[in-house]
Amino acid sequence: MEKNVVVIGAGLAGTLICNELVKNSDVTLLEAGDKNDIKYPEINFIQKRFAAVKTFCIGGGGTTNLWHNGLIPIHAHDVTSKEFSKIITEAKSYIDRAACNLYWVDNPYSSEYENIVSRMNSIAGEIGIFPDGVDCLLYPKKYKKLDVDTGVRAFYSVSDIEFVSNYKQIMSVTYCIGSKKFSVDADVVILSAGALGSPLLVKKVLSAVGCSSEKVGTGLADHPIGFLGKVKFKKHINKSMKQFSLLDRGNYTCETCIRLRSECGKYICGVFFRPALTMENKLPLYKYKSLLGASSGMDRIRSIFSLKIFHPDIVAEIFSHLFGISIPGRIYNILVIFEQKRGKSRISYDSDGLIVDWCISKEELSIYKDMLKKLKDMLTDISDDVIIETDINDEWLWSAAHHSGTISLGKAVDDLVDKDLKLNSCDNVFVCDGSVIQEHSYANTGLTIGALSMRLSERVCRG
Ligand SMILES: Cc1cc2nc3c(=O)[nH]c(=O)nc-3n(C[C@H](O)[C@H](O)[C@H](O)COP(=O)(O)OP(=O)(O)OC[C@H]3O[C@@H](n4cnc5c(N)ncnc54)[C@H](O)[C@@H]3O)c2cc1C
Repeated sequence: MEKNVVVIGAGLAGTLICNELVKNSDVTLLEAGDKNDIKYPEINFIQKRFAAVKTFCIGGGGTTNLWHNGLIPIHAHDVTSKEFSKIITEAKSYIDRAACNLYWVDNPYSSEYENIVSRMNSIAGEIGIFPDGVDCLLYPKKYKKLDVDTGVRAFYSVSDIEFVSNYKQIMSVTYCIGSKKFSVDADVVILSAGALGSPLLVKKVLSAVGCSSEKVGTGLADHPIGFLGKVKFKKHINKSMKQFSLLDRGNYTCETCIRLRSECGKYICGVFFRPALTMENKLPLYKYKSLLGASSGMDRIRSIFSLKIFHPDIVAEIFSHLFGISIPGRIYNILVIFEQKRGKSRISYDSDGLIVDWCISKEELSIYKDMLKKLKDMLTDISDDVIIETDINDEWLWSAAHHSGTISLGKAVDDLVDKDLKLNSCDNVFVCDGSVIQEHSYANTGLTIGALSMRLSERVCRG
């Protein structure tokens, strides 16, 4: 008999899992949003806001409606937690399948990735001042939002999801569409509502099986990102830095970042160089640039109506990043993507919806400042001019939209999921999406979420 699998959430993870499991199981998908339309839920921010642009949405395809599909792995050697490092190592063998499902056409992804990283590292080696090496973010040129296979029984605009249990097992899931209530039997339930959505569902499962849910939602981590300076490279270095900035590889483009580790060894950041025309280093301009680069649709059109659009650096950004046209010159913006660990930041919910209590801690800010000083010293040797804002406050940084860590994973008594991503308190419920990413170095999380989705699908098929 085929297994009844209920997947909740049709975003990056949920869609990949549905499309994989439908080959062997009877799959029902419950998605809160519309099939072909997205909405942005209201968020009550207690401390820092994520960003000026929308960093996630509700609807079929989830945040793949907004994302840029940049594919890069999280390296196990950049992860300090032994348990998560093991999982990342295991997930490595699923990366090619995940990349293929995420519109990567030069298969296999991993050999192309290794080739290009090795080529860029030998260029970095010739420059000779990057002790932690470089890494590459690969962007397939053609992609769209993810769609669910037609064999999946998919229900959209679903609300009021609840779980019916028998001891430590979920037997069925109830839900409403409009005012009508429905129920579906479940052998296995997979929660994939994203780092901001799954904790609510986990709380409901724990309540159904009579367990405490106090820690659920704590540990929210993101990538604080910001344009933090400008550099004018020396003439003989510029050819290499141009390749780091943007390399056209036919079906994909490659952006190379410098890896930079903190003194304590626990944190690592990625430093990208984006073409610019002036050495002006002003926060309002950077905020506008980020708004233009990360927004989409009507939001992007609205942001075009600003005098800042005529600033030479913005013109350079539009030509280089949005249209992929190479900009001459030796001046670059310095874009830094910092790592954040799971800490006290958290999400919760009340009757009005989602509450996000996110901040960059004092300790993290101090580590980031030290890393920036190290970066400035490093670049001084190979540049004619370098300006880096080393005394930043958290205004300079915003969310890179890689919401992670709201579900704890590990062997401690109060950890929520185990190494198979199964809820410790329940025999047949798994969580797979950004919420289970415990550490993420500087790496965009999509490819790892995809690899974990492939790994979980295999685990569920095996039984
Ligand atoms: C502008 C932008 C650019 C990005 N660029 C990149 C990039 O280049 N590379 C990269 O790796 N990542 C990128 N990301 C991040 C990436 O999109 C996310 O990390 C990824 O989509 C997260 O996948 P997920 O499955 O965890 O969640 P999501 O894709 O957000 O899916 C969650 C799904 O659950 C649904 N849902 C929520 N609550 C419920 C509920 N209660 N019941 C039922 N359904 C529910 C939602 O509607 C949604 O469909 C970008 C993000 C943004 C915003």
